[in-house]
This record gives sequence, C-alpha cells and structure tokens, in this order.
Amino acid sequence: MVQRAFYIGRFQPYHYGHHSVIRNIAKEVDEIIVGIGSAQISHTIENPFTAGERLLMVSKSIEEFDVKAYIVPLEDIYRNDLWVAHVKSMVPPFSRVYSNNPLVIRLFKEEGMEVKECPLYQRDRYSGTEIRRRILAGEEWKHLVPEAVIEVIEEVNGVERLKEISQDDC
Ligand code: NAP
Repeated sequence: MVQRAFYIGRFQPYHYGHHSVIRNIAKEVDEIIVGIGSAQISHTIENPFTAGERLLMVSKSIEEFDVKAYIVPLEDIYRNDLWVAHVKSMVPPFSRVYSNNPLVIRLFKEEGMEVKECPLYQRDRYSGTEIRRRILAGEEWKHLVPEAVIEVIEEVNGVERLKEISQDDC
C-alpha cells in the first residue's frame, strides 16, 4: 500500500528549515501531502503571503525531491476539536502525520493517527519570523530560502508589500 504522509505549516515564507524537514519525510514515505496552513490569511506582517503564493514557493522548491507531492491550502476553523476532520475532508487520505506543533500533534493523536515529530533543521538560523524581520530591516535574507522562494517573492513584489504593510500597521 502507498505510504502517504501529511505535513502542515504556514510557510510565511517557506525556508530551508521546512525544506530540510520535507526532504527527510520524502525519504520515509511514497507520497507527501503538504498543507498550507492559515490559507485565508495574507497581507499582514505575520502572514504576508497568500495561499497561492505559498503554494508556488513550496511546489517549486520541492520539485527537486523524488516524491509525489500534493499541496493543499487549508483555511483555519474556529473549532479545534473538528480540525482533523476538516483536514481529512480537504486532502487525499493519509496514514501518518509529521509535525512539531504541540496543538497539531495533540489533535491528530486524539483521533488515533500516527504522528512523528520532526524538529526544524537549524531552528536558530531558519525561522519565518526572523526572515520577515530581515526583509523589513533591509538585511540579507535570500540565503535562508530556496531559490524558487526568492523568485516568487520577487514576482509578487513581496519585499515592497511587507514594507508597505508595516507602515500601515504603524
Ligand atoms: P505555525 O503556527 O505556522 O508555526 C508555529 C511555529 O512553529 C512557527 O514559529 C514555525 O516556524 C514553527 N515551526 C513550523 N514547523 C516546525 C518544525 N517542523 N519544527 C519546529 N518549529 C516549527 O504552525 P505550523 O505547525 O507551521 O502550522 C500549523 C497550521 O495549522 C497553522 O496554519 C495553524 O493555524 C493550523 N491549525 C489550525 C487549527 C484550526 O483551524 N482550528 C488547529 C490546528 C492547527 P516558522 O515561522 O519558521 O515556520
């Protein structure tokens, strides 16, 4: 039977920490479902990129891995106890979950799913929060994300967007 796994993140933006996690998952399963979390949120300092932009970042970046991947944007719902059912209704069937998020782990375990923890690679170096801070501060950030992510951010004028949003928030 095909071993298909589920991994979710907000990917604001997708970076080498996420990339390393997915590379490792790809070695253990036949197919991977990547959930784009909080798909409904964009154009904020914490969540500057749309679900479609994040989908592009992930799909272009993981082309290099030898794994069949399904990338599915998933909106949040206001009922944590129903969230696993929501996820299952939106993505292909899967038998294993990879996550390091305590809530995500808890919710899937309560539904009897197999969950494997997957700490981010070099967490102190690769962090969405730090990358967004660097972009806003005009500091170097491109070495922290795959080339495809740079291309997507440039295509959508993401640096300018983040800077403008931060002015609005002030
Ligand atoms: P997240 O809220 O996007 O990220 C939380 C923190 O965990 C971020 O600092 C993130 O870093 C970090 N992180 C991500 N992957 C990690 C890993 N493998 N190891 C260590 N740290 C990691 O949470 P998420 O787990 O990435 O994504 C979960 C998604 O599920 C969210 O969109 C959440 O809203 C959704 N969700 C929704 C419901 C509901 O609707 N009721 C319930 C549960 C979960 P980076 O910033 O560097 O990515």
